[in-house]
Formats: sequence, C-alpha cells, structure tokens
Amino acid sequence: MTPATLRPTATRQRSRHASSARVPLIARRTAMSAEAVLRGELRRNVSMARHVSWRAGGVVDCAYTPADLADLKTFVRILPAGEPVHFVGLGSNLLVRDGGLRGTVVFTHRALTHVGLGAGGDDWCEVIADAGVAAPKLARYAAMHDLVGAEFFAGIPGTVGGALAMNAGCYGGETWHAVVNVSTLDRSGAVHARSPSEYEIGYRSVVARHAAPEEWFIGATFRFTRGDGAASRKLMKEFLQRRIASQPLGQPNAGSVFRNPPGAHAARLIEACGLKGARVGGAAISEKHANFIINAGNATAADIERLIALARDTVQARFGIALETEVRIIGDAAPGEDETT
Ligand SMILES: Cc1cc2nc3c(=O)[nH]c(=O)nc-3n(C[C@H](O)[C@H](O)[C@H](O)COP(=O)(O)OP(=O)(O)OC[C@H]3O[C@@H](n4cnc5c(N)ncnc54)[C@H](O)[C@@H]3O)c2cc1C
Repeated sequence: MTPATLRPTATRQRSRHASSARVPLIARRTAMSAEAVLRGELRRNVSMARHVSWRAGGVVDCAYTPADLADLKTFVRILPAGEPVHFVGLGSNLLVRDGGLRGTVVFTHRALTHVGLGAGGDDWCEVIADAGVAAPKLARYAAMHDLVGAEFFAGIPGTVGGALAMNAGCYGGETWHAVVNVSTLDRSGAVHARSPSEYEIGYRSVVARHAAPEEWFIGATFRFTRGDGAASRKLMKEFLQRRIASQPLGQPNAGSVFRNPPGAHAARLIEACGLKGARVGGAAISEKHANFIINAGNATAADIERLIALARDTVQARFGIALETEVRIIGDAAPGEDETT
C-alpha cells in the first residue's frame, strides 16, 4: 500500500459526497487533512454483502483497510470521538441489516497478518498471531512447527481477531483455552497487553472485565504443546471431512446461527420442529444442518433475520427453550422493516 493509495479515493469522495448530509465527519476530515499520513485504503458506501460469508446485507458508510499496525493506530487516533467503529475479520459470523451500518468498518485481514513463534520450553511453545491471520493458517502454522492443540482452528473460516471476539471453538477446542495474552488497541491508538483474567470468557462469549471503554483485538499469544505435526495434520483433515459431511459449505452461510442451549443442541431442536428446508425469501434453513441458514439466492438480511426469528419462535413454542443467536447482527433495518432479532 503506498501513500498514493488513499489520495485518489479521498479526492473522488470529496467531489461525490461533499454535499451529502450523510457523509460522516471521518470521511471529510480524512479527505481534507489526513491523506498524506494514512497509507491504507478508505472507501465510502461499501456493500458489506461482499465482506460477509452470508453474501447478504447492507452498506457501511466507510470502510478502512489499514496498511499495517502503525497506519491503523494513526487511523483510529484521528477518528472523531463519536464515530462508531466496527472491526471486521472475514465476516463469517456477521450480518449487516439491509438499512446499512453507520460509522466505519476496519478490515483486519489484509494488514494484521503476521504469525511467528514466541517463547518456548521443552514441551511447549508460544505462537504469536496478529488479529487478521486466518484461523486455518494458525492451525497449519502450529502443525508445521510440531505444535499440537490448534487443530480445531483449521475449519473455522474467520480470523484470529474474530475467534478472540467470539471465543470460537469446535471439536473440543476453544480459542481462549490456548490464549496466554492478547494485544488490544484503543481509540487513542495505544496498544495494551491484557491477560485472559481481564475477560469473562464463556461459550461463544467474551466480555471485558477491565474498565477501558473501547478496545479491539490486534493479536494474541497462544501456547501449544510440542508434539507430532503429522498427527496434527491428519486430525485437521478428519475435522474438515466431518465438516464437509455435515455442513452446507458450498452455499453462503455463517456457521451455527444459534448457540447450543445448556444440555441440548440447537440443530436437533430446529430439526424436530420440521424446519429443515423452511424458507423466507432467498434464505433457507439448510437441509444438511438445521442450525445453518443458507443464502439460497438473493437473500436479503431481512429474509435471514425473519428466518432466524421463525426458528427461534417455533422452538420456543414447541419446547419452551429460548434459543440465543451466536451470529452477530448489526446495523439498521431498511425503511419499513422491523429488526426481528
Ligand atoms: C462454514 C462455517 C463454519 C463455522 N464453524 C464454526 C465453528 O466450528 N466454531 C465457531 O466458533 N465458529 C464457527 N463459525 C463462525 C465464525 O467462523 C467464527 O465465529 C469466527 O471466529 C469469526 O471470525 P471472523 O474473523 O469472520 O469474524 P467476523 O464475522 O468478521 O466478526 C465477528 C465478530 O467479532 C468481532 N471482531 C472481529 N474482529 C475483531 C477484532 N480484531 N477485535 C474485536 N472484535 C472483532 C466483530 O466486530 C463481530 O462482532 C463458522 C462459520 C462458517 C461460515
């Protein structure tokens, strides 16, 4: 990314949007004063359907792809205080409503991509990964260095940042089980080292215990055990085969829509309600896995959200169990639409 990358974009924005009441302050301010400083790419009115695995949903006011961490620090520092900021990895657990998202999305997956070895002992070693590193890359990197315990990341189609935010996991593995510490960035551009004890970690849930107002993950140090990399690769293959057999990987989806309620399986409850194959508009409950909703063609975010509501309400009525969404739904409903989840 060169300094010139931002300039033409910013110039275009100035001429196209200068009179628009919806131009957020950041775009005008960035265009006017920061173009010489920032090295990343700033875009306006970006369709988030292109950046989420559901391939549906609305437009975000601004999207910034930083050049690197130093550039990202500068960017967050110059943001106006009230500008909403949303860090996004690979959008594999995210839906933006059709009315769009106010504020700025920061994409991590092109900039924060370094992974390397950290401290080690006789039977363990640390792996340090930036937030934009793809989870499967972390799994492969660990196996390449004969470290075991990261195999479960192989089939999670998101970033390290997304896995930290969600406490992603599967097949007995969970992101935060392996975390030694995380690095976070605040709005002033300062970086913090934080330990797992500063977070309330639960099943697909991570809540900061520290009092700092707003921070995003920029990386983490994981600890894995020394072992047999070839055995790890074999295990990853098995995990991937299990996914291919049980999940609709060929159609746009966002993984499990609902968390499993205590002692039960969301997929089994939805299937028992006879909802496999149920449709709303272009969205359908997968025939292969009832906790997956697929975009069967031109689904809107509202179609997906209505189908989520249908599954949740039907399970509640039939079993008295309240399903909670695992997927994150953000943004505004389109005019005339209600937010249904
Ligand atoms: C086919 C398929 C299979 C899946 N299987 C699994 C599975 O087995 N287990 C599982 O847990 N999940 C699974 N998922 C869901 C998803 O892949 C995970 O939740 C993943 O961790 C999300 O990562 P992401 O980078 O795509 O996050 P995004 O979808 O981009 O973001 C998810 C949330 O994390 C926040 N976030 C992202 N990056 C950061 C950051 N750097 N700092 C702070 N917040 C951030 C976002 O704001 C958003 O709220 C699956 C999804 C698909 C499509």
